[in-house]
Amino acid sequence: MASFTLHGIPVSRGISIGRAHLLTPAALDVKHYLVAEEQLENEVRRLQDALAEVHRGLQALWTDLPKDAPTELGAFIDVHALILSDPMISEAPLDIIRTRHYNAEWALVTQIDELSAQFDEIEDEYLRERKADIQQVAERVLKVLMGSAQLVPAPLSDDPFQPQMIVVAHDISPADMLQFRDRSFIGFVTDVGGQNSHTAIVARSLDIPAAVGMSQASALIEQDDWVIIDGDAGVVIANPSALVLEQYRARQALMQKARKKLLKLKKTPAITRDGTLITLLANIELPDDCPGALECGAEGVGLFRSEFLFMARGGHAHRLPSEEEQLEQYRNAVVAMKGRPVTIRTLDIGADKPLDQTEHTALNPALGLRAIRYCLAEPQLFLTQLRAILRASAFGKVRLLIPMLAHAFEIDQSLLMIEQAKAQLREAGHKYDTSIEVGAMIEIPAAALALPMFVKRMDFLSIGTNDLIQYTLAIDRVDYEVAHLYNPLHPAILQLIAMTIMAGKKAGIDVAVCGEMAGDTKLTRLLLGMGLREFSMHPAQLLSVKQEILNCDLTTVTPQTRKILRSMEPNVIAEAVEQLRNLI
Ligand code: PEP
Ligand code: MG
Repeated sequence: MASFTLHGIPVSRGISIGRAHLLTPAALDVKHYLVAEEQLENEVRRLQDALAEVHRGLQALWTDLPKDAPTELGAFIDVHALILSDPMISEAPLDIIRTRHYNAEWALVTQIDELSAQFDEIEDEYLRERKADIQQVAERVLKVLMGSAQLVPAPLSDDPFQPQMIVVAHDISPADMLQFRDRSFIGFVTDVGGQNSHTAIVARSLDIPAAVGMSQASALIEQDDWVIIDGDAGVVIANPSALVLEQYRARQALMQKARKKLLKLKKTPAITRDGTLITLLANIELPDDCPGALECGAEGVGLFRSEFLFMARGGHAHRLPSEEEQLEQYRNAVVAMKGRPVTIRTLDIGADKPLDQTEHTALNPALGLRAIRYCLAEPQLFLTQLRAILRASAFGKVRLLIPMLAHAFEIDQSLLMIEQAKAQLREAGHKYDTSIEVGAMIEIPAAALALPMFVKRMDFLSIGTNDLIQYTLAIDRVDYEVAHLYNPLHPAILQLIAMTIMAGKKAGIDVAVCGEMAGDTKLTRLLLGMGLREFSMHPAQLLSVKQEILNCDLTTVTPQTRKILRSMEPNVIAEAVEQLRNLI
């Protein structure tokens, strides 16, 4: 097999060597294969069983509905049950299995696709919208059919060493990426995606080498091909020669040694050479990430992306986590962090983190009804989350962080709703931290340009550089075609960050950076020089950043940074940042 090399965008460090496991877009949802004649009735039964199980699930949902549940919830369940028993779903796919020999999942998807096409032609808007319901019902059935092992490949029986798998796919959603946690995959390669898409962010948090924006990878790489991912360079080598393999194995061993050495810094306080104490916090997606954060010496959680508790459950209210479920998760994180602060960001849903992957209705989702905008438009959902977070504050130090704020009225409404949630809790006799701190993400340029509006109302600020860059430079952070324009060192970005840090300092409130810039060791000194004293990042980055901090002397770095901030020339900035890194 001929060896070839692909170049893309590096998103998660390290080197992985393994066999390719291909996940085509369709296979990410369902498997496709033809069923042998004698197995057809078994396959039919498999689908019938799944349909029956979903039916039972819907009935159970009905029975478990709280008495005060809104009537729409019951209606939803009714509609889904009706769809499920319609012959279009309960009979037609069985015929497809018998006549075309498709496996159950494929037969169901084929039927749904045909139905969806018919629905698209219907004039009546109400009926047309039922398409989403049909798709959701189909999703439920598919989930049962595929079981929880949906994405796990069969082990390679012909290989005595059982090499681990590298996932190769056209695209992977953040929610799917999260499913890969605890699986035996050792790397990810996708055709599309940007450096700071949430899929990339989750890959980094799993601390697994990954490269995206590989354009043709899923078409060129074949199942079980040997693959090397160089996650630092964004390079993928398929079918490498023995010599290349050996070189990469040697590099891999060196990297592992360096990582082990870093672990020695776990308990060392993050103090610069001139004696300035820096706070290093962790970004987490789920409470399960907390032990890993402590393992790397995190002093708390600076960003808990709570939306991951809400995603991939389907967007309808009866599938969202209840107040009690959320409380359990938030409390787990608080307890796991053993007294260290946990900053819980309220639901940042939308753009590349849709509540329901089947629902992509917004024209420009990144500019649409996302994050706090969505929450203010869905007050019950927001209040439920606020109550759960507030209740978790009775178990340890919790801070509330609100994403995507741009307008004063959004801040005021958010604060009002927090007060409303507190009042509801008092009435119900629940405990919470009455002096809980509330902070704002600064991630829309308008916010960074109107800081007095924020410092007056908020207890702390956290700069979301991922979105700040996306919105300032008008590039979609998920789109690999504009990924080359994603530049954290653009003078406009540096100005906005520096202004935010300064405004916080002047007002005497804490400012953190929780976007990906905080974990990039190439930028550590620059951020320190701007006055940043609180960094929040993936635990995997934390010790490398700490090492940079320990080597940094602010008495030389700060004046140099001031000079950088006076420049508007990208080349001059890039060179000066490089020099900053080399300052002794
Ligand atoms: C950011 O925008 O920088 C951020 C931290 O939030 P997210 O990446 O989840 O949008
Ligand atoms: Mg953001």
